[in-house]
Amino acid sequence: MKTRKDFLPFFRPSIGREEINEVVDSLKSGWLTMGPKTIKFENNFAKYIGVKYALSLNSCTAGLHLAIMALGIGKGDEVITPSLTFASTANVVVHMGAKPVFADIERDTFNIDPKSVVKKITKKTKAIIVVHYGGQPVDLSAFRTIARNFKIALIEDAAHAVGSKYKGKMIGSQGNLASFSFYATKNMTTGEGGMLTTNNSRIANFVVKNRLHGISKDAWKRYSKSGSWRYDVEYAGVKCNMTDIQASLGIHQLKKLNGFIKERIRLADLYTKQFKAVKGIKLHHIKKGMKHTRHLYPILVEKMRRSKMIDILTQKKIGTSVHFIPLHLQSYYKKAFGYKKGDLPITESVFSKLISLPIYPGMKDNDVKYVVDVIKTALN
Ligand SMILES: *Cc1c(COP(=O)(O)O)cnc(C)c1O
Repeated sequence: MKTRKDFLPFFRPSIGREEINEVVDSLKSGWLTMGPKTIKFENNFAKYIGVKYALSLNSCTAGLHLAIMALGIGKGDEVITPSLTFASTANVVVHMGAKPVFADIERDTFNIDPKSVVKKITKKTKAIIVVHYGGQPVDLSAFRTIARNFKIALIEDAAHAVGSKYKGKMIGSQGNLASFSFYATKNMTTGEGGMLTTNNSRIANFVVKNRLHGISKDAWKRYSKSGSWRYDVEYAGVKCNMTDIQASLGIHQLKKLNGFIKERIRLADLYTKQFKAVKGIKLHHIKKGMKHTRHLYPILVEKMRRSKMIDILTQKKIGTSVHFIPLHLQSYYKKAFGYKKGDLPITESVFSKLISLPIYPGMKDNDVKYVVDVIKTALN
């Protein structure tokens, strides 16, 4: 098979003239940090999701961290998370002095398995952090039942799931704490950024203060016309607010989001259709009732070593990634908590075969065909 001339990147953000002009407008305005555009972005995001409070932050990680803080989770407590996730899902638990306990995943959706979670619950369990892997929601009603029965909190790491729907309802709209990511590679971006959503006014109030050093509400206004020099430190807060420069991107990315998602789904369907004729790989299974926004297009390579397939794809100028190297196999988690190979058989089996293929608006139908052809040829 002929190799293409240019490299097909794993991802490319879609930034248009609107975003660029809005950022320039902020730079010229003299107001660079959190301000009117950040508030506008929050309001628009809350409306899009259908939730009372949307609180902007500098990352999804910060949202997860503040969620754990707001729930008062700390030393002696346990929080259940998947292992097939990014570092931040469990790191934030460690930051608050609690212990992350890893549950196994479902073999076909790669989402955290409610049955495995139940087995990991102890008297010390205070919360579950679910991850909507790749943009497909977890079985939220199963997790809500578990949370209710065991009186523990449910937090959603919604880094992949902006615009995803569970049984017709938007992720982030249904009363749990959900944290979204606007990191450069995500379905919409502010370069770096995140948003925590909740319907709980107590938690919203806690987050508003604690994202800005734990000082009184609207502290960001203190250098504006309507601001005051007085402030009171109510908590030992952290510093993780968003800026108007980031919100400039966010306001326009959000307007375009449904279009981005539509294009991702179209490209994913194209992959799926063309992979039908290819033996030796398994595709990401979509459950009924889920709107999967296709942040990732993962495949499992069944008939060849995964690393060999990645080498071939790289040689053929195709960017790939692996989401994720399980946390229980990472040095820190092995050392600090004694986790080891063999602890999570399904996570390990999925990981050993897993590759994420390129998928983003701007990718051409021919690019998809090229990727499929390279994989098909490699397997034959
Ligand atoms: C990207 C990602 C995060 C972290 O998002 P940031 O905005 O970079 O903090 C957390 N969890 C998952 C599953 C992710 O993919």
